[in-house]
Amino acid sequence: MPTITDQLSQFLAKKDHTHFINGQYHAGEGEEQITVINPANEEVIGQVAVGTKADVHQAVMAAKKAFQHDSPWRTMSPDDRGKILYRFAELIELHSETIAQLVTLENGKLIKDSRSSDAGGAAKTFRYYAGWTTKIEGETLDLSQPQKGGRQNFAFTRREPIGVVAAIVPWNFPVSIASWKVAPALAAGCTVVLKPSEETPLSALLLAELAMEAGMPAGVFNVVTGDGKTTGAALTAHPEVKKITFTGSTYTGKIIGKTAMDNVTGVSLELGGKSPAIVFEDQIDFEATAKGVAAGIFRNQGQVCVAGSRVYIQKKVFDKVLTDISHIAQKMNISHGFDETADIGPLVSKGHLKKVCGYIEKGQQDGATLITGGKTPKEKGYYLQPTIFSAPDNRPSIIEEEIFGPVLAAIPFDDLEDALQKANDSQMGLAATIWTKDISKAIKMIDRLEAGVVYVNSPVRSDPNLPLGGYKQSGIGRELGKTGVYNYTTLKSVNIVF
Ligand code: NAD
Repeated sequence: MPTITDQLSQFLAKKDHTHFINGQYHAGEGEEQITVINPANEEVIGQVAVGTKADVHQAVMAAKKAFQHDSPWRTMSPDDRGKILYRFAELIELHSETIAQLVTLENGKLIKDSRSSDAGGAAKTFRYYAGWTTKIEGETLDLSQPQKGGRQNFAFTRREPIGVVAAIVPWNFPVSIASWKVAPALAAGCTVVLKPSEETPLSALLLAELAMEAGMPAGVFNVVTGDGKTTGAALTAHPEVKKITFTGSTYTGKIIGKTAMDNVTGVSLELGGKSPAIVFEDQIDFEATAKGVAAGIFRNQGQVCVAGSRVYIQKKVFDKVLTDISHIAQKMNISHGFDETADIGPLVSKGHLKKVCGYIEKGQQDGATLITGGKTPKEKGYYLQPTIFSAPDNRPSIIEEEIFGPVLAAIPFDDLEDALQKANDSQMGLAATIWTKDISKAIKMIDRLEAGVVYVNSPVRSDPNLPLGGYKQSGIGRELGKTGVYNYTTLKSVNIVF
């Protein structure tokens, strides 16, 4: 078990945490507080303020001021902006153990995942987008319409930063998902108000401290803590916000989409998933496939938007593959996130555990067969055994609805057409994985799968240069990669006639 860093002990000693607005901590107007709980032992690790409409207004106005045309941030060269982002990445790396430990404390996830995905992933994302500040470009254009009086012209487009960005993030990867929004928005020259999830608000405040240390001018990066109905709603409805970038459930995404349209605010929505893993009978290495499918659903306790939560297995090998995956699940060591030998930690909260257990009950009522797991093995903490169901077809509701926990449903299929039909038979379309040694089969599947991300012979992994986003109700837009930074720009078309 790692020793808590001195930096983290000092941060936690504050106990009552406030918003971070205009370069400093800011107590806020409201009385309401949220208690942050360690999901591994149910102990309190701190309190944060619930941002009121007035607090949100203050943060948005600080971001607006920092975005004025003559502000230090707007007049800075792209190269200097890149240097600040690069320094930010270096500071995240320097303080990565503190960040990782804080994420494990507030989210419960395994420390190795906090280190690699949250702290490590955020550092990589900031470094990647530091390089983009100097590569944002428009185009020169030949026009079809002749200029009046035979005059000449010069037409071009400029990509300009869109303005104040409202970034709203979930709790499953609190630091890395924040970085997927904050890094490209800042690279484009925007300013940001980040609202972390009410379950995991502390790591965002630590990030804001590091942003200041990196040399970010006051007001460029602000954090308002709070819930969805008060703080999130006030932020998305604020008329000075020019772009909302949201990651969370499809349910909340629909509310935010409607709010955005009321003000005609730009919006990107990264929403839920119910992603299929499709296993063909032609495996070279069955063991590796079973391991990959298990990792695809059980990593981060199944609380991953791209989790492969439906596995379709070709009939001839159905029993073998299902047995192999079940053996892996049964051997998993369930323990707290700081236990370096743990394979699976607690879920994020009591409420979420209850919701996931509700799905397990519903699955059994709907006629799915429980193969393994389904029990809460510890008295303290929000632990759940990795759970596997089998079902003859897509009918049980656990196969349609996103559970967002360590619950896998296995369904047999006949041939490629049957696999495609079953995999696409969903309202969601975030990701899919295909497990085959036959490249032509994989390419046919890639062509017809309704999913924003497809991996072959590997669970889905994010990368700063690989766009992520969904088909159907899994979202609108893509983040990461070049698209990720262009999300935060708006296009101006110019024609100079002379
Ligand atoms: P959630 O929708 O409950 O909350 C997400 C964020 O939205 C939180 O910060 C919350 O406070 C805020 N919020 C809630 N109601 C709001 C409102 N009315 N107005 C403004 N903000 C509001 O989701 P969650 O439970 O935190 O996260 C889990 C969900 O996120 C899952 O559905 C998962 O699939 C999805 N997710 C998607 C991706 C992706 O890239 N597509 C990545 C990670 C998680």
